[in-house]
Amino acid sequence: MEKIGVFICTSCDIGKRLEVVELENVAKEQGAVSVYSKDFLCSKEGKEFINSKIVEEGLEAVSICACSSRVNYEVFNFGKVVVDRVSLREGIVWSRFPVGEEGTILDDSSEYVSGVSFKDELMALAKDYVRMSVAKLQVYKVPVPFKPEEEISKTVLIIGGGVAGLTAALEVAKAGYPAIIVEKEKELGGFVRKMKAHCEIRSPYQNLVPPVVEDLIAQIEKNKKQIKVYTSSQISKISGGPGIFKVFINQAGKEIEEKVGAIVLAVGFKPYDASKLSDLGYGVIKNVVTNVEFEKMAKEGKLVRPSDGMPIKSVVFIQCAGQRDEAYLPYCSSFCCLASLKQAKYIRETDSEAKAYIIYEYMRTMGIYENFYKVLQDDPGIFLTKGKVVSISEGENGKVRVEVDETLLGEKILLEVDTVVLATGMVPVTAEDPVLNLEYRQGPALPELELFYGYADSNYICFPYESRRTGIYAAGAVHQPMTIGQAIEDARGAALKAIQCITAVEVGHAVHPRTWDFAYPEFDLKMCTQCKRCTEECPFGALNEDEKAFPIPFTTRCRRCGTCFGACPQRIINFKDYSIDMISTMVKATEMPEQGYELYRFMAFVCENDALPALDMAAYQRKNLPVAFRIIPVRCLGAVNVAFVKDSMSKGYDGILMIGCKYGESYQCHFIKGSEIANRRMENVAETLQQLALEPERVTMLITAIDEVEHVVEKMKEFAETIKGYGENPFKGW
Ligand code: SF4
Ligand code: SF4
Repeated sequence: MEKIGVFICTSCDIGKRLEVVELENVAKEQGAVSVYSKDFLCSKEGKEFINSKIVEEGLEAVSICACSSRVNYEVFNFGKVVVDRVSLREGIVWSRFPVGEEGTILDDSSEYVSGVSFKDELMALAKDYVRMSVAKLQVYKVPVPFKPEEEISKTVLIIGGGVAGLTAALEVAKAGYPAIIVEKEKELGGFVRKMKAHCEIRSPYQNLVPPVVEDLIAQIEKNKKQIKVYTSSQISKISGGPGIFKVFINQAGKEIEEKVGAIVLAVGFKPYDASKLSDLGYGVIKNVVTNVEFEKMAKEGKLVRPSDGMPIKSVVFIQCAGQRDEAYLPYCSSFCCLASLKQAKYIRETDSEAKAYIIYEYMRTMGIYENFYKVLQDDPGIFLTKGKVVSISEGENGKVRVEVDETLLGEKILLEVDTVVLATGMVPVTAEDPVLNLEYRQGPALPELELFYGYADSNYICFPYESRRTGIYAAGAVHQPMTIGQAIEDARGAALKAIQCITAVEVGHAVHPRTWDFAYPEFDLKMCTQCKRCTEECPFGALNEDEKAFPIPFTTRCRRCGTCFGACPQRIINFKDYSIDMISTMVKATEMPEQGYELYRFMAFVCENDALPALDMAAYQRKNLPVAFRIIPVRCLGAVNVAFVKDSMSKGYDGILMIGCKYGESYQCHFIKGSEIANRRMENVAETLQQLALEPERVTMLITAIDEVEHVVEKMKEFAETIKGYGENPFKGW
């Protein structure tokens, strides 16, 4: 870009603490064609002023030196004109203060080091920020929306024809998009169709209703024009990516190909394998059954003892049978307390003399289903107690003896009943079968984390609907254990996400989470050494490989995290607006003081997702960051190429801090693996530093959550002190 304008705001303490005229001069020296300073740039008049200069001078890009890029985003939007934001307010005047003994804030004119005032250092920082912004815009290339060569499909594929799948298909159709359902059974309806009844899914949440699924199937029948259904069918292969997925469906040995834009995976759950519960009598005592078997008996109108067909007059329900227990299923399946209450009601409705006993450790009736629980508590034929089942054995005449300890009554109780029902849990179908059969270099299924027990990996805090495969959304019991009502809600969310995905591909920006981002990684493969780092490290399976191990990018799958960019030792992966050249130019544009004046300089590459907002919050709380830090925001720590480190060290920076999100099993990284991969790369960085006879600690990684403001500020101060202990970078001034 050549026609760059710089606009410096003098409000919000900027004009009070900084010498704006000096900043104007620096911007001109760096090559800006016009430079203006004005108060309240964010006001109507301010925006009009910038707009008028853009038009008069034909500016291609503007550097707004004012507040953080995280605020006033719409105010400083000038259509096609490229905007860079320089955070003079949050990044400097609200977060860098001269501090005296006992933490008192001093005057800016106070001495920083011998012969240099704090104001000098503050101005050096502000000047570096202005220089970096102009330098960045000079090498900036405008991103062009990505358009796949093939036609984009608006169809949403829904795999699974149970309550979640049917709901998703109907929601997609209601929004005007075509849907395809692929169901492996002969009929639609899934598990819910096999039920006798379930708790109502709307207020007052107190009664049982016939399975909602019948109505959903009837609606699908009426929507045949928009919803195509394949029953007795399975997915044999999926290739492509959002907007251009190619789906191969196997129906009785015949292969059918469909093109779809997004996918909802709604294949539900499998009941937990009760054969592992022999200690609770399953498989040993005939009259011990699971909740799924009991439901089938109820649906068939045969609530009789399996051993001899005698009507069931008494039943014990044992909650958490093999659940919330590390030896079996470590999690709560969320529906089974409600299922036992419901099944107790079946017994009571069949025979008013019958008795039901529910033994639980914790009764968990999610949300408003507490209403249903309360209604059943009032039934004198239903006995509920907290307790621990000590033994289960065969009694006389087909009875089952259940011994329970630690009850609310404070004593052991012995129950002799006709049947015991084990409240067993759910496991996702995908725990054993990839279902999707993705033709991706990184495997056929949605990736999982051990922590999620076979459920698809997602950033549950920030993006609960996402999976790690762009454009593929899990819904219902394959997503998380859930009730029917929750599965319906979940399917609606997934349908909406699928539609959003298609519209994002149509306009050519990232699907998620950088939904404003038109830039994408471009590969200059002439210099590629087929090292496979990019294809191995991409957290989202966006890169396949050809037979010679060259990467094949599938851009609509790409989340624009930059992990591949960070990985590439050849530096041949670049974004138009985020490139090795750009960051290098920015680092080189800063001014480095000479050796020996104790004027330290630290570079911080800060993740835009959590760390940068944490630093903005530090500014709002007027926390004090060392003035020696220059901050360059990055897409993710995964998007920090070792070239950034080398360039900063050769420039003379005394230390480099990389600040990003938590990684590991309970990660918070918005790009799942980015910060973890960055941490792994630190070993290479340490080796490089040792070769240069520099202390490895000069480059350090700092992990933070968005709300750990105090922590991040303190760690930055600690880092600065540690590096001062090593002395200045010997390359400074070379
Ligand atoms: S930017 Fe991220 S998602 Fe896209 S190809 Fe590179 S590593 Fe994969
Ligand atoms: S990381 Fe770079 S050099 Fe290695 S395979 Fe990918 S593009 Fe090629």
